[in-house]
Amino acid sequence: MIILDDHFHVDPFHGLFLEAVKQFHRAGGTHLMVVYKSAHDYGFPGLKVEDFMKAMDFHIGLVERINKETPVKAYAVVGVHPAEFAYLAEKRGLKYAKDEVRKALEYAQRLCLEGKAVAIGEIGRPHYEVSPDIWEASIELMKYGMALAKEADCAVQLHTESFDEARFRELGEYVREVGIKPYKVVKHFSPPLVKVAEEVGVFPSVIASRKNIREAISQGNRFMMETDYIDDKSRPGAVLGPKTVPRRTKAFLQNGLFTEEDVYKIHVGNPRKVYGIDPEE
Ligand SMILES: [Zn+2]
Repeated sequence: MIILDDHFHVDPFHGLFLEAVKQFHRAGGTHLMVVYKSAHDYGFPGLKVEDFMKAMDFHIGLVERINKETPVKAYAVVGVHPAEFAYLAEKRGLKYAKDEVRKALEYAQRLCLEGKAVAIGEIGRPHYEVSPDIWEASIELMKYGMALAKEADCAVQLHTESFDEARFRELGEYVREVGIKPYKVVKHFSPPLVKVAEEVGVFPSVIASRKNIREAISQGNRFMMETDYIDDKSRPGAVLGPKTVPRRTKAFLQNGLFTEEDVYKIHVGNPRKVYGIDPEE
């Protein structure tokens, strides 16, 4: 059975790295979307485009190691985290930060075109209060990242403040404005608003808590499951632990909340459509 966690971080300096992936595998997990953390986490200052490029290359190297050294199939998602942009804008000014991050996103697009990554992410806007200038610029960069993804025919994973129906509708307007295919825009850390997301043209990657997944599946199976595991020893099991997606999937199948068809759609059909990957090969 194929089981995919759609948003998982690894960190060889602060976390368990391969051990976390092995835990995922022992629980029954098979496929991972491994998402870039930050230049800073990977040992680069995050002050210029070259720092972000080196950090993305480093991230690709981590994904290659997972594929060589564990039985799990990992795919890379690369971008610039909105918190990195906000930090740089405060430190070096808005215009400078925007230019550097734009160039970094173009590099992320190149990695997708070269087949080294399958999506640009996580990009978006900060989940905490920032100045109106930084907020507006973050939205601009998010749309730029979506436009790059559209051009490369790859997906984007979006990081945002906590979401509700109104914000999904706002995001839907950006999707239409950019003209990217609606199933190529993944809302990471999504609440279980499966129907609203489909209506506005966004693909939800739902945090795999019991309550969320129960609500999500009651609305349909057009979603993916994630832990947003951050792999930081000082925050073990945050946001959810590495075993959560396989454990929850199996439990839901056992207690009848998922059918076999649901499991196949969530872990194979949906990722195939969104990322253009073939988890079955
Ligand atoms: Zn994340």
